[in-house]
Amino acid sequence: IIEVRHLKKSFGNLEVLHDIDFTVSKGEVVTIIGASGSGKSTFLRCLNILEIPNSGSVMYHGKDILKGEINVNVHRSKVGMVFQGFNLFNNKTVLENCVIGQMKVLKRSREEATKIAMKFLEKVGMEKFAKAGSIQLSGGQKQRVAIARALCMEPEVLLFDEPTSALDPEMVSEVLKVMKDLANEGLTMIVVTHEMQFARDVSSRVVFMDNGVIVEEGTPDHIFNHPSKDRTKEFLKRFL
Ligand code: ATP
Ligand code: MG
Repeated sequence: IIEVRHLKKSFGNLEVLHDIDFTVSKGEVVTIIGASGSGKSTFLRCLNILEIPNSGSVMYHGKDILKGEINVNVHRSKVGMVFQGFNLFNNKTVLENCVIGQMKVLKRSREEATKIAMKFLEKVGMEKFAKAGSIQLSGGQKQRVAIARALCMEPEVLLFDEPTSALDPEMVSEVLKVMKDLANEGLTMIVVTHEMQFARDVSSRVVFMDNGVIVEEGTPDHIFNHPSKDRTKEFLKRFL
């Protein structure tokens, strides 16, 4: 679905992504692991045009998303993103958060958008909170709403940037459970995470990034049990 070739991204003089090649196919769950500052977030953000790469291409169904013809908001509904900090509209209700994008980008009627929003809120166990103000929710609840909001756009791929890192430990599992269910249903997902257990159990492929390059990628068994690169071994030692 997504094919990245020779991607480079700099901030000023600092090149943070060096010549990244990457593909993801339908139904894959790819986790991206790596140390802080290695470029994981920047890479994800390049996939839905939150950052503009300096060179290289990002193809989505064979179309270069950096070459104009694409509508950014429509692309972001197809390749949705769930952030560490939820990014909900705090002054709006849970339901409204899930309805706005559908009406604006997908031009759905309020009635239809509400129906779809309720379906996905139910899926993440948040339907009872539809009328609640987003600001009153716990972190785990906010993140489940953020996932429902992304699902309302009927994405083909969902990007997750450390979706559980801002959560208290007791709320991590409720969010991981929702993500696991989505993975089992065949949703294509790219997940930046420090949850190694999740990466082991759920991913079809694990990508290890360090200093702006993909050092190594493979099955969870390969990466966690038989990594071939020293840098990967060094990184994983911290999680033993
Ligand atoms: P973490 O695990 O801490 O989230 P990361 O792997 O996601 O780290 P990035 O956030 O992609 O890393 O950052 C990679 C590098 O790019 C870092 O050196 C960071 O300081 C730099 N960087 C990221 N965003 C910007 C920006 N908007 N302007 C300047 N430098 C940036
Ligand atoms: Mg990051």
